[in-house]
Amino acid sequence: MLNGKVALVTGSTSGIGLGIALSLARQGATIVLNGFGDVEGPKAAVTALGVKVGYHGADMSKPAEIEAMMAYVTAEFGACDILVNNAGIQHVAAVEDFPPERWDAIIAINLSSAFHTTRLALPGMKQRGWGRILNLASVHGLVASAHKSAYVAAKHGLIGFTKAVALEAATSGVTVNAICPGWVLTPLVQKQVDARAAADGVDMEEGKRRLLAEKQPSLRFTTPEQLGELAVFLCSDAASNVCGQAWSLDGGWTAQ
Ligand code: NAD
Repeated sequence: MLNGKVALVTGSTSGIGLGIALSLARQGATIVLNGFGDVEGPKAAVTALGVKVGYHGADMSKPAEIEAMMAYVTAEFGACDILVNNAGIQHVAAVEDFPPERWDAIIAINLSSAFHTTRLALPGMKQRGWGRILNLASVHGLVASAHKSAYVAAKHGLIGFTKAVALEAATSGVTVNAICPGWVLTPLVQKQVDARAAADGVDMEEGKRRLLAEKQPSLRFTTPEQLGELAVFLCSDAASNVCGQAWSLDGGWTAQ
């Protein structure tokens, strides 16, 4: 379905980004990975699916590095047809204790990076008359939780950005949408499970159960694979008229 398309997924060496990259690869898309940590493992997993793979190590908090990454994608693969703005970090603290540099980093990586990639990818997509931009927001783009002020602000901002760009692109063949997961058990959330288990003096399994019970009525984690399949749907022709939506996959979190 996505043969001949080139997909850049930011923050795809781990978690949700890797899940989405693998789902798009299964549909035949060429994949450009980005992110820190182990790169060879994710590259090999994509290659095993029989598609071309590239990698750029841009730090998504640095506009000049993002610009270099976008230039690399075009130079190496000819275009960026699918852009998944997924890189993200979390910091949990009361607002009065929130380190200013953590605030700046969260806004830069979780919000501003999507502006820097989008402004460079969109002209080519419009010119070719086809494109997909998927912004990994969160339930925290729709509702808030205490002690996550920077994350909630960035994710609400990302949904607003999604809507504005979707309107600008509405007649061009390019769709722009946000995906809003609830809890997904990735390294980003494992830290919060560990903190919860330590604070409550319980084991990890009980920590997971308590985290889910508080917010996610299904009592099940959403998986990177499910988010990957949602991304595939949003890239399909069936979704060509889905425009500026914030699509939740959250086990009922935001239905409450
Ligand atoms: P993760 O920690 O497993 O992966 C994050 C990825 O981003 C990694 O590949 C990491 O190397 C990369 N990254 C971090 N900082 C970067 C930077 N400065 N430059 C480039 N890459 C960087 O996290 P995840 O849970 O898979 O989160 C992915 C996205 O999904 C994030 O935007 C997150 O906010 C969002 N999200 C996660 C959950 C969840 O429950 N895990 C829920 C809702 C939304």
